[in-house]
Amino acid sequence: MGKIIDGRALADKMQLGMAAEVAEMSIKPGLVVIIVGENPASQTYVRNKELTAKKIGLHSVVERLPEEVSEAELIEVVSNYNQNDLFHGILVQLPLPGHIDEEKVLLAITPEKDVDGFHPINVGKLFSGQAGLIPCTPYGIMKMLEAYDVELEGKEAVVVGRSNIVGKPMAQLLLDKNATVTITHSRTIDLPAVTRRADVLVVAIGRGHFIRAEHIKPGAVVIDVGMNRSAEGKLIGDVAFDEVIEVASLVTPVPKGVGPMTITMLMEQTIANARKIQ
Ligand code: NDP
Repeated sequence: MGKIIDGRALADKMQLGMAAEVAEMSIKPGLVVIIVGENPASQTYVRNKELTAKKIGLHSVVERLPEEVSEAELIEVVSNYNQNDLFHGILVQLPLPGHIDEEKVLLAITPEKDVDGFHPINVGKLFSGQAGLIPCTPYGIMKMLEAYDVELEGKEAVVVGRSNIVGKPMAQLLLDKNATVTITHSRTIDLPAVTRRADVLVVAIGRGHFIRAEHIKPGAVVIDVGMNRSAEGKLIGDVAFDEVIEVASLVTPVPKGVGPMTITMLMEQTIANARKIQ
């Protein structure tokens, strides 16, 4: 029987440290989250980010724009925050309404303040080994693995999912730590045979309880990024936690696993940015 990786507890501990750090700083790190429209899931994510930022003592602003805002108007708002020295991090909550080109908006954020790490400049830096801003979810996962002393060098790591925000950057970060990395996706043939090779398995698919005990090598470390709603409306991961923990050595739960760490890394990157110009 494996153990739980307590993302909530680790996030709380890191946030306490950050609050102490911010209290000592000569300037207040500033984070603006821009949200367009009324998407309920986005509203919840943004509220959580705002609460966490305030708890840590950041200067936190949520810019709420109506659903019908034009692409040009949104880009204008982003540009104003690019110029505003009170803010060290800018995040545009995705998804955006259909009439707005997300790529154009993400490109409008200055790479120096792109605390989500989605700008092509930061993506390029990550993939070419230069220091830059890193997508918060995979960054938080690396912090969890480090906190639980998970050895990566020479180990087999398998990432399920190849999105730009989770799967691909995750694979690169694992590679940077000298793991032997395999990325799998919906066209992978015989997924269980591949995932059973993994000493470290990171799952980011978006399908409730898709990964079962048969996918797991005994003693593996399993990280569940998924956030799905069950038929009863409960938040569930991509991993069937109850059966997988019987086989694995460490597993993240959903909720209280990867989610709290993602928000924590957003705060960390905002603080680090503010420090650079302090
Ligand atoms: P995407 O939908 O962008 O990507 C999903 C990936 O899973 C794709 O690469 C897809 O393959 C792959 N996939 C789908 N079905 C299968 C299958 N049957 N077998 C193998 N691979 C499959 O999702 P995201 O990466 O954005 O998010 C994944 C999950 O993580 C979601 O539940 C999301 O809500 C959650 N999430 C959680 C965060 C957190 O902070 N906890 C942050 C970000 C996301 P293909 O490319 O071939 O289509």
